[in-house]
Amino acid sequence: MAANISTGTSELRDITKMERIGAHSHIRGLGLDDRLEPRSNSQGMVGQAKARKAAGMILKMVQDGRIAGRAMLFAGPPSTGKTAIALGMAQTLGPDVPFTMIAASEVFSLSMSKTEALTQAFRRSIGVRIKEETELIEGEVVELQIDRSLTGATKTGKLTIKTTDMETIYDLGTKMIDALSKEKVTAGDVIAIDKTSGKVSKLGRSFARSRDYDAMGADTRFVQCPEGEVQKRKEVVHTVSLHEIDVINSRTQGFLALFAGDTGEIKPELRDQINSKVAEWREEGKAEIIPGVLFIDEVHMLDIECFSFLNRALENELAPLVIMASNRGMARIRGTKFRSPHGLPVDLLDRVLIVSTRPYSADEVEQIIKIRCEEEDVTLAESALGVLTTMAVETTLRYALNLISCAQILARKRRSEKVEVEDLRRAYMYFMDEKRSVQWLKEQQGSMVF
Ligand code: ATP
Repeated sequence: MAANISTGTSELRDITKMERIGAHSHIRGLGLDDRLEPRSNSQGMVGQAKARKAAGMILKMVQDGRIAGRAMLFAGPPSTGKTAIALGMAQTLGPDVPFTMIAASEVFSLSMSKTEALTQAFRRSIGVRIKEETELIEGEVVELQIDRSLTGATKTGKLTIKTTDMETIYDLGTKMIDALSKEKVTAGDVIAIDKTSGKVSKLGRSFARSRDYDAMGADTRFVQCPEGEVQKRKEVVHTVSLHEIDVINSRTQGFLALFAGDTGEIKPELRDQINSKVAEWREEGKAEIIPGVLFIDEVHMLDIECFSFLNRALENELAPLVIMASNRGMARIRGTKFRSPHGLPVDLLDRVLIVSTRPYSADEVEQIIKIRCEEEDVTLAESALGVLTTMAVETTLRYALNLISCAQILARKRRSEKVEVEDLRRAYMYFMDEKRSVQWLKEQQGSMVF
């Protein structure tokens, strides 16, 4: 998965997360056309047209940098693609835009306070694109720029050349110009390059100071082959999250903590320092802020303290786009005795854009099942596809999708590469869906102790 999915403090959580994402590995984007209209089956996405279009419009706002303090909520029944659409958004944004995914219940951990966990999730979702100069490494493709200011004249111009040859980099003068122009030039010569035709002509050393310079017109660039040593440095750009900068600079943590995943609490003073440092870099043109996306699944699991934290954090200048998802209708706001839509307090609800997802038609379900089979390299008999589709409609889409790989194992046991109805039937008997599980528990009541 291209996006930066980073959460969790334990191995177990990482595994859950991998599974959560694995189930969506067929999602490659939102499947919209240039006019943000949803294609019926594209980039792994099927149906849910309205929600995908809304997600596309929000992405447009993200790309235009108009997301500060915004939040959206996907509300809809289980297995209706809330997570899938959020991941489609992440894919569309590309790898340079941070995308963090957490389940609300992860916020309640023993290793840190709720607000610290949320702060870390927020800061993981803000990217800092840093420009740095580094030494060149042999064999790298580099861009060399000879500034026209080398000639001492008032106009400036740049010549860029790509090369993998270290010799060329060190002994730039003659070799580079030679390659460009086939003109015999030596270090110190001034050449003129016509921007449109690319024609290069040699003007001689004294030309640099001559008044004829200006007469050549704006379409001509002048380059003087440098006499001194060419700087063996280049500019590199990389994006890290604010959270990564916090951890790397934390005296108690150090960057190894990033690999362990357990970063513990970070002192507020350190964060203040990092914020001012980043502000300084921005002013100096060394860094740029890339606001990303924070996805909070099962948001109704957060409590009132978390919600007031969210409200405040969204006011912050450095806020990402917060996407929440809930499959609850009216629910109690945790930590209070009040009930409200999706278990969210009214003041937070008031600021979120709500996008609803609806159950799929049998035809859409069938298409999703086909996509998943292709993704998992499973051949499903035509009759089995029909049965699995009915199962999905009667239970949930997720349950039916989970049965695919179980049924494949059963098919292989009988030495067949094709999943038949019989394999599905057996898988259905081994693994319960939620409804049957609840029913079974009811029947067992009294005979089981939890
Ligand atoms: P929950 O409320 O239970 O968390 P959800 O609404 O987040 O559910 P998903 O987990 O996104 O549902 O969907 C269940 C499965 O169906 C996933 O494997 C997902 O990738 C797939 N899926 C859902 N909607 C679509 C869709 N529109 N196109 C393709 N695949 C989809």
